[in-house]
Amino acid sequence: MSDSNQNRKYDIIVIGAGPTGSTAAKALSEKGYDVLLAEKFRMPRYKSCSGVLIKKSMELVKKYFGEEIPLSVTCTPIDNRGMIFTTDKGKEYRFEQEGLNVWRSSFDNWLAQGAVSSGAELRDNTSVISCEESSDKVIVTMQGEKIYTAEADYVIDCEGVVGSVKRKLLRQEQDYITTYQTFNHGSIELDLHYFYAYLQPELSGYDAWFNVKDDKLVLGVAAENRAALPEYYDCFIKYMKDNHSLNITDQLKEEKWLMPKIKPGCHVDFGKGRVFFAGEAAGFLNPMGEGISAGMESGHAVASAICKHFGNTELIYSEYKKLASQIWVYMSRQWDFVGNMADTFSNMKLSVK
Ligand SMILES: Cc1cc2nc3c(=O)[nH]c(=O)nc-3n(C[C@H](O)[C@H](O)[C@H](O)COP(=O)(O)OP(=O)(O)OC[C@H]3O[C@@H](n4cnc5c(N)ncnc54)[C@H](O)[C@@H]3O)c2cc1C
Repeated sequence: MSDSNQNRKYDIIVIGAGPTGSTAAKALSEKGYDVLLAEKFRMPRYKSCSGVLIKKSMELVKKYFGEEIPLSVTCTPIDNRGMIFTTDKGKEYRFEQEGLNVWRSSFDNWLAQGAVSSGAELRDNTSVISCEESSDKVIVTMQGEKIYTAEADYVIDCEGVVGSVKRKLLRQEQDYITTYQTFNHGSIELDLHYFYAYLQPELSGYDAWFNVKDDKLVLGVAAENRAALPEYYDCFIKYMKDNHSLNITDQLKEEKWLMPKIKPGCHVDFGKGRVFFAGEAAGFLNPMGEGISAGMESGHAVASAICKHFGNTELIYSEYKKLASQIWVYMSRQWDFVGNMADTFSNMKLSVK
């Protein structure tokens, strides 16, 4: 880090170069704002993900980044053709929809480079430790090679699920779902163009899933109680062997990750003072862990609100909430839909108060 970064003043500092942060950083720098995009890990960074871009996400990329998604970030089968749900009663529902199969590390890096090409400064390997508001600015403490501060008129916190900066600001704990997935060589008798979600309670405390990335069969389970994951995973593997002739020859990798636990009412935190929250950090997440579209939309919404009312924090909040209301409606309806498909999610039905 050069000494010139110390106490450097930006219009906006965006925390986290995921889809939410890169969308916000691009939208702001396109309008001429001086933007720092701070990312904890070296880019391209890893993110555990099924890597399915639904049609809505593909359209948002086109709208916000003005380009087609390059083949270099995709994996095979490139064209995802939709989702096949098995309900808790074992009934199958098919949702045919055009989608794209991507590797998140390459896709997210491409988005971040899109923000850079619009003028944002990307500083990776840089973790934001805290944000403190002081009169008309935010003092942001960061750790790269050493600890230093920078200042901004506003901060957009897009740090994803763990939300350590948000937790410090709101002094509130987050409830999590733990995901566990493995990458395997082998074979299975299923159409590999679809993402499969299984809602039977004996297979997971949340959902279980199967999809393919290049020649790898990805099998995962999720639960609030992480101690139960090994048992769920074994049941799921047995189920896939019995029902779809799964044959694993080699397990290449296993990984655990977290997702926010979305509760009835789909609560969203918009921010505190001059620090706004967007994406998963705010609580935007659709069922079955589809979060890229809500992340990009909320990142763009808060950026648009800042552009419109820079200097008037109250008006930024009301504009952000107005723009985000459609994302919330979509998210609530999707959860309602899943609530009607499986008892595990019945508390998410809109009719349940
Ligand atoms: C197993 C799994 C499968 C999923 N599959 C899909 C899928 O197929 N399709 C889909 O749409 N969604 C999927 N999701 C959800 C999706 O990954 C998230 O909703 C999405 O990544 C949220 O985007 P974001 O930008 O808000 O957060 P993230 O993508 O998590 O980005 C946050 C960034 O902030 C950085 N960061 C964190 N703290 C700091 C800090 N203090 N300082 C600086 N940087 C920081 C992180 O390193 C990260 O790069 C899946 C999630 C899981 C766990």
